[in-house]
Amino acid sequence: MQADLQQQQQAAPQNQDAAAPQQADAAPQQAAAQPLDDTMLQAAIRYNRSLGLTPDQIKHYQRLLSTGSDGAFGPDTTRAIHTYQASKPGLTPDGKLGPQTRAALDGDHQAARNRPPGEAREMTEQEIQAAIRYNRGRYHDPAMIRQIQEKVGAGVDGSIGPDTIQKIWAWQQQNGLEADGRVGPRTLERMGIAGADMEQAEREAGTHGQEGTGGEVPSGNITQNISWANFQSNGQTVPRNLRPIVTQVCQELEKVIAAFGGRRIVINSGYRSPAYNRSIGGASQSQHTMGRACDFNIQGIRPSAVRQRIEQLIRSGQMRQGGLGAYANFTHYDIRGYRARW
Ligand SMILES: [Zn+2]
Repeated sequence: MQADLQQQQQAAPQNQDAAAPQQADAAPQQAAAQPLDDTMLQAAIRYNRSLGLTPDQIKHYQRLLSTGSDGAFGPDTTRAIHTYQASKPGLTPDGKLGPQTRAALDGDHQAARNRPPGEAREMTEQEIQAAIRYNRGRYHDPAMIRQIQEKVGAGVDGSIGPDTIQKIWAWQQQNGLEADGRVGPRTLERMGIAGADMEQAEREAGTHGQEGTGGEVPSGNITQNISWANFQSNGQTVPRNLRPIVTQVCQELEKVIAAFGGRRIVINSGYRSPAYNRSIGGASQSQHTMGRACDFNIQGIRPSAVRQRIEQLIRSGQMRQGGLGAYANFTHYDIRGYRARW
């Protein structure tokens, strides 16, 4: 699978001094749902990271909480824990995934599994919306979405809505997968269309390569400070269907440029055709081949400082969540739609 994913930062156990797990969520008498202020949030994140759960274990609880399943404890997951605790009598809403909270989540999960198939529960509105966000972040290619819709028997319109999500959910149950309405790597593989978006990109690139004479190669600027020539290094032509996605990446990069007072951006690698990507040993499903990624520098700024600024912009909701890769001489950023760090 994607090297980017495999290299995702793990939730390394740290701060072993945090309160012992056994004491974490014993419910005091007054369990009123108080909001999670920033101090509590940070303490809960430290505590959760100190639990030493593996990324797979964390993903398991993230799915049960209907939050982004990146296998690491951040603010979103911790807030989702708090919300869940506030909805469950007997749990202290402190955002800490202590043993009682884990047992409650697993208990709910088990209860849902033990229902006879005829009584399979419906997805909640919250679960549907979370799955829509997940899938929309992951799949930008209408052709790919149509393949998924065909597979699960949903209306084939190339766009992901509640009907598609519920059909995915039912399909997952029928196929013995954990049902969450999200087409992650495992579900995609089971559907037998793993890597289909890659093939699609390749097919499109091939088609446009043949047509690609005369006016086919885009020129001029994509956004204020980034030109097509910048983004299409090594003679790569961005296929027409990927150009709107490339534009979105550049709109995000403009925010980084602005954050550094309009300094020049130097792009090492933007779009890569699948063939070119293979020739340089890139990850087989690199975000670069889907037009979602860019490796770059901001002139005169250390890459570590650039990444720090991007993290701030993402945290404050000014920039889109996605992949952020640390390299000694440049920064990789992509708009895959979910958090990945390496
Ligand atoms: Zn890259």
